[in-house]
Amino acid sequence: MKRNLKTDTWLVTAGRPEDAGDPLNWPIIPASNFLAGGGQVYARDGGIPGWEALEFVVGGLEGGEAVAFSSGMAAAAAVFDLLPVGARVALPDECYHGVSELARRGEAKGAWSVERIAVENTAGWLEALRTHELVWLESPSNPLLTVADLGAIAGADRKPGGLLVVDNTFATPLNQRPLELGADISLHSATKFIGGHSDLLGGILIATEPLLVEKLRASRSVNGATPGSLESYLALRGARTLSVRLEKAQVSALKLANWLAKRACVDRVRYPGLVSHPTHRLAAAQLDGFGAMISFDLAARAEAADVVCDKVRVIRHATSLGGVESTMERRAAVPGQEHLPPGLLRLSVGIENWTDLRDDLSQALAAAGLEVDEGDSA
Ligand SMILES: *Cc1c(COP(=O)(O)O)cnc(C)c1O
Repeated sequence: MKRNLKTDTWLVTAGRPEDAGDPLNWPIIPASNFLAGGGQVYARDGGIPGWEALEFVVGGLEGGEAVAFSSGMAAAAAVFDLLPVGARVALPDECYHGVSELARRGEAKGAWSVERIAVENTAGWLEALRTHELVWLESPSNPLLTVADLGAIAGADRKPGGLLVVDNTFATPLNQRPLELGADISLHSATKFIGGHSDLLGGILIATEPLLVEKLRASRSVNGATPGSLESYLALRGARTLSVRLEKAQVSALKLANWLAKRACVDRVRYPGLVSHPTHRLAAAQLDGFGAMISFDLAARAEAADVVCDKVRVIRHATSLGGVESTMERRAAVPGQEHLPPGLLRLSVGIENWTDLRDDLSQALAAAGLEVDEGDSA
């Protein structure tokens, strides 16, 4: 989908009803079926107007056709659904745990084989592109925010028919557009930054190749992975404000990351915008913004990290991310994530005033008995 407007203008103006007397926003239409003879037939196959508007707006952000799903995992499953039996799949060593589990289950059934590659192993990814049917990247990664060299990887030669998918959830279409770099599919959990209010589940795939888009739509239809009317409405409503939310959140995130990096009790802060981040240079060259996610490590102190989560008041102790409200959790406490550093806290920075977030972290760290004064870890 070509667009001639700047991103922030597009987000607000695209995909609205056009006829005189129409409402400014597509209404929520709780319909499964439509009267015969019109364009719409059955919602699982043909969708509903609000859902098409969401696809139009998000697809336009990344220069492709978007296909909306009932969740990010439903979108991921639709990609795996395209694989021939016996396919070779390359996944990052650090990857959204739901996608890891989806891949593991298929492998256990003998549907495909899975190889793990380190996010920063560019040579490994280039090799996998030549031999694997599905190469899956996530950048920046969850939760360590490692950035893959998409510039080098996405445009490289690949096996005929092979797919390169980039999970773009953390970057959002504002900070990174994988299709422009040469990826086949960009994936979003619309549950996160696109929806932006922690009030819906949604997923989106974006692709340019018409046959691929058709296959993804067909997979959604036969697997019933269709988004609801209410969720589509909320996701589009959320997307309208994505630029202001993200711009504010990532300014705050950099300030908080710098503040955290100076605390004596914080062992290590992982934020792509910090020079100390292992893939900072790649992030600076490749991303239009460093995003709103921060991970920081209270050394091996899992108990203290749990107290910090318990004591925050402005920040909500909750999983998930990308909402207007800041959320934080200890990732190793999440089932399937036990391999992560035990004291690693993942913070999704929202749109509150950053000084309130800083003060909240400060009091919670102090309440956990940690040394909040400036250290030399920066
Ligand atoms: C949340 C998330 C998903 C899965 O999306 P759901 O909407 O929860 O199904 C996939 N990838 C990343 C990076 C995520 O954060």
